[in-house]
Order: sequence, then structure tokens, then C-alpha cells
Amino acid sequence: MGTVLITGMGRGIGRELARVLLRRGDRVIGTVRDERSISGEWSEFLASGQLRMLVLDVRDETAIRKAAAQVDEPIDVLVNNAGIIGPQRQSTLDMDFEGFLETLNINTLGPLRITHAFLPHLRRAKAGKIVTISSRMGSLSYAKADRIAYRASKAAVNKVMQGLAEDLRPEGIVAISVHPGWVRTDMGGTGADISVAESAAGLATLIDRVACEDSGGFFDWQGDRLPF
Ligand code: NDP
Repeated sequence: MGTVLITGMGRGIGRELARVLLRRGDRVIGTVRDERSISGEWSEFLASGQLRMLVLDVRDETAIRKAAAQVDEPIDVLVNNAGIIGPQRQSTLDMDFEGFLETLNINTLGPLRITHAFLPHLRRAKAGKIVTISSRMGSLSYAKADRIAYRASKAAVNKVMQGLAEDLRPEGIVAISVHPGWVRTDMGGTGADISVAESAAGLATLIDRVACEDSGGFFDWQGDRLPF
């Protein structure tokens, strides 16, 4: 049991992970971009204080700092979940450059901005963990080139997490990247392999299990190590 902060909690994998963690008794701090995406299903948890919501956009450093200042409890696990698939045109030979930058801003810089703002809270936990939802599509071991902006943003966030793991190792804070599976969400589409429930259950187990020796690694939702 602990306190888990999840970015992008309004829908998809983030919402289901919050549901799993709340049901088993964890405290959850969820972030949304728009207060209107805080649905009525959470009212009981909000009323009891087991769930808190923060409004922020991972592109907006000022908003993130403001949100972090509203939290005065230690955070045991930070789940960087918010992300986008990127622009329509994103092949190496036909690129929407603004869209590529936006993808990097959200998928790569976003998790680092969030980590910086909530590092003081992670430092106050017994064994802080940073779990960044990346994607197998970012693995340099596969030569595939479709959706290259998305792939590059996830490859880059993997490197950032590996670096954070090194830099935070002396403090006992763990950082890993995780592929959540190909999941039936707005992003994954209806033809994806697994449900949000399957993905979230796997992620919750992985979050518990991950230890110092795993720091800097890349795992899938079932806990198996993936190549960078
Ligand atoms: P969804 O598209 O269903 O949800 C994305 C979430 O990210 C939403 O809550 C959205 O908030 C939030 N978000 C997007 N942009 C921002 C931003 N600028 N600031 C704050 N929040 C933002 O995606 P999934 O649930 O499928 O994906 C979650 C994570 O898992 C992503 O990082 C994705 O790359 C990764 N992933 C997903 C896979 C899949 O098959 N679904 C496979 C591999 C990785 P809002 O509602 O406000 O838009």
C-alpha cells in the first residue's frame, strides 16, 4: 500500500490502473488536463480522500510546479502514463515537424518535467519508484519505421529513464520503462491484443515487484525484460 501518482488518469490505461490501485487500498493522485474528465465514478474515493485529482498538462512546467506544491505527502510511485501517438504524417520521408516536436514534448520531456516536480515527494518515500509507460515501438532492436515520431519519442524517454536510474541510484530511487502491451484504448484501437484490465493488473504487479536491481531496465506489462 502506498501513494501512487498517475498522469493522464482521465481515460485509457491510466484510468484503469487507478481503478485497480484504489480497489486494493492504495492512495492515488491522478492528473487530468480538464476537470470535466473527472467522472462521477470516482466520487466515493474522492470523498474519502483516497483519491486526489490535480489538473495539469505535461507540457506546462508552471502548471506542473503549481500542482506539485499542492501535494504535501510522500509519493511512493510516480507513473508517467500520459502520452500521444503523434501526428498523422510521421514517416521519415514525410514528416509533420511541428507534430514531431509536440510528440517529443509530451512523451519524452513530459515525464522528465513531472519527475523533477515530484522528486521531493519521491525522496520522502521509503523507496521511491518512477515507472514510465513507454512502448516496445521505441525499442532500437526492431527496424520498423512506421510512426517514427512516436517510436523516437519512446526510444528517447527510455534513455532519459535509464539516465535517471543512474543519477538517482545513490538515493535508492528506482526508475524503469514499461511497455503496457498493445491495449484496447483510444490510442491502441479496438483491434489491440489486450484489455485495459489485463494491462493494468500486470502493471500493478510490476509496480510492486520492481526493485533496485531492476532500475534502468525496460520491461513489459508481464514483467519480462525487453531489449532497448
Ligand atoms: P489514451 O489515448 O487512451 O490516453 C492518453 C492519456 O494521456 C489521456 O489521459 C490524455 O489526457 C493524456 N494526455 C495526452 N496528452 C497529454 C498532455 N499534454 N498532458 C497531460 N496528459 C496528456 O492512451 P493509452 O491509455 O492507450 O496510453 C497510455 C500510455 O501508454 C501512453 O504513454 C502510450 O504511449 C502508452 N502505450 C499505449 C499502448 C496501447 O496499445 N494503448 C501501447 C504502448 C504504449 P486527455 O484525456 O486530456 O487527452
